[in-house]
Amino acid sequence: MQETTEDASALRGSSLNGSSLNSQVPDGPMADKWENHKFNIKLVNPSNKRKFKVLIVGTGLAGASAAASLAELGYEVEAFTFHDTPRRAHSIAAQGGINAAKNYPNDGDSVHRLFYDTVKGGDFRSREANVHRLAQVSVDIIDQMTAQGVPFAREYGGLLANRSFGGAQVSRTFYARGQTGQQLLLGAYQQMMRQVGLGKVKLHTRMEMLDLVTKDGEACGIVCRNLVTGEVTSHSGHAVVLATGGYGNVFYLSTNAMACNVTAAWRAHRKGAFFANPCYTQIHPTCIPASDEFQSKLTLMSESLRNDGRIWVPRNPDETRAAADISERDRYYYLEEKYPSFGNLVPRDVASRNAKTVVDKGLGVGPLKNGVYLDFADAIKRDGKATIEAKYGNLFQMYERITGEDPYARPMRIYPATHYTMGGLWVDYNLMTTVPGLYACGEANFSDHGANRLGASALMQGLADGYFVLPYTIGDSLAPKLGTEPVPTSDPVFQSSEQGVRDRISRLMSIGGTKSPDYFHRELGKLVWNYIGMERTEAGLEKAITEIQALNEEFWRDLRVLGDTDTINSSIENAGRVADFFELAELMARDALDRAESCGGHFRVESQTEDGEALRDDEDFSHVSAWEWQGEDTIQVKHAEELAFEEVPLSQRSYK
Ligand SMILES: Cc1cc2nc3c(=O)[nH]c(=O)nc-3n(C[C@H](O)[C@H](O)[C@H](O)COP(=O)(O)OP(=O)(O)OC[C@H]3O[C@@H](n4cnc5c(N)ncnc54)[C@H](O)[C@@H]3O)c2cc1C
Repeated sequence: MQETTEDASALRGSSLNGSSLNSQVPDGPMADKWENHKFNIKLVNPSNKRKFKVLIVGTGLAGASAAASLAELGYEVEAFTFHDTPRRAHSIAAQGGINAAKNYPNDGDSVHRLFYDTVKGGDFRSREANVHRLAQVSVDIIDQMTAQGVPFAREYGGLLANRSFGGAQVSRTFYARGQTGQQLLLGAYQQMMRQVGLGKVKLHTRMEMLDLVTKDGEACGIVCRNLVTGEVTSHSGHAVVLATGGYGNVFYLSTNAMACNVTAAWRAHRKGAFFANPCYTQIHPTCIPASDEFQSKLTLMSESLRNDGRIWVPRNPDETRAAADISERDRYYYLEEKYPSFGNLVPRDVASRNAKTVVDKGLGVGPLKNGVYLDFADAIKRDGKATIEAKYGNLFQMYERITGEDPYARPMRIYPATHYTMGGLWVDYNLMTTVPGLYACGEANFSDHGANRLGASALMQGLADGYFVLPYTIGDSLAPKLGTEPVPTSDPVFQSSEQGVRDRISRLMSIGGTKSPDYFHRELGKLVWNYIGMERTEAGLEKAITEIQALNEEFWRDLRVLGDTDTINSSIENAGRVADFFELAELMARDALDRAESCGGHFRVESQTEDGEALRDDEDFSHVSAWEWQGEDTIQVKHAEELAFEEVPLSQRSYK
């Protein structure tokens, strides 16, 4: 499972093979690519769609929108979630909003500007053609969701309201107070449930996918475990779609829901789906700082708060006065001072790294000195408490409930935390992975956000994938299969996959050690945060690989899983997920070690400008790193997809 050599070059261990990745990006001018592609790819005739069965794993925004759309088109869909209801998908947690190039405020936005901002915001590490398509369909998403009844905030004249998010100089973020994800999910969920009612979607709740099944190299189904009964079953289809979310919980402490994990994507990776840019994880600047060692979850305070909140720390590390008593002269508004044109609305990576820098210098605030202030005093003075309450009331309330501090009266305390994963399964322009017939949507794939995701663009991407991209592109691989039946679940490929799942569960149950899955998860998270987090060094990454391997060895020797397998048992669920996190964490470290440049939120200490900003190395690293599984005891092989920047010329990002 793990490489054990201590030789440094072997630790890096990537042999480059650029030949096998075809992104399928269509030819032609950027603005016409998607239109041309839709015309050129194969279609399935409306009356033939019912002859195809598509399995969709995950019913968050990406999965629910895909299930609703494909069923609406006529496909037979089976949807799977380990939650007891699709409404519990982590998408529900999204607060701030969703971007779209509608230009309602008439402040200069356009499809091209959203495309440009997203490529630049991702620090030139995303595929231009995908990002352009995302910007194009963004306008349709808002119409679609409004038509489905999502109660977006409105201006006095009735038009949908917009607010600003980091990395943009226009207001293009649509929102439903601080509950945008919840409202969008309810919209997508109700469309999917309509199809459940019509019999076109068969919904399986409390079912966890534990393996991808392939036959002759193509995806033909999945193996799941029923989380209530423990039963292991096979499910077969003409295509499989993974919409299983991100892997931020590899850090243990993150803003993700506790159940988020990498298992579905990782199991597919082990069956041939390349894993792209695993080291690209996003650290969000505005989270409530941890209050003690045993906390298991961090809470996000939406980025929208940076529209009105001013970020600062005391200039004096020994400051003891309450925030309100500290004079203007003694406050360090570090973002406003360093980045005058973007100020507090610099992108997330820049805001996070600067917060870390001031806290590392001893300027942090709060009992553990592990935060910075986000101060609304000026905004309240300027606009009145009622206005601020109308915009952010529920967020302020949430903050007060968690910290016991009233943010109307004293500044919030915030600090960066893991929030989103830009890495994920490699997909081509059609959202197909390197396993034919296997697609990945939403946060589970790597596409569109490069090395740093701009705020409010994950909801946009998940819904773009599910509503507007996959429904077109999936036909391309299905059309040639007309007249074929799905591989029967009695086929030996399903039987051996089921057996593999059962054997692994037995192995985890039988270790009989002394430490819980949670213990190992927390210890692993510390390694990932300390060495593969916001700031990385070559030596630190090498150390991380060795320490992850040692902890993993201890996991398989000293794990204790409580309870039985034929009933609800979160201990066995967690054990399997943590086992996969170990393998992922090691790959993250190798990927980070290989990428000897700073890009996006990934600050490599050895690669910085004279004034301490991130320094990219376009000559050597202007590519997507896609890793191929080689078996348990072998280092994975890296494949590179070269990135070309024809529309947005490569430049060093500057927000000054
Ligand atoms: C606190 C917070 C706030 C955010 N706010 C914003 C915001 O304002 N704007 C924005 O654009 N983005 C925001 N994001 C990011 C955004 O919410 C997510 O990226 C997005 O919702 C992910 O959607 P998804 O459909 O890809 O995955 P998810 O919503 O995570 O859904 C994953 C689905 O997969 C299922 N699943 C996973 N593994 C398995 C398995 N093995 N077997 C069966 N089912 C499985 C789960 O049950 C679930 O149904 C925020 C994120 C966080 C953490």
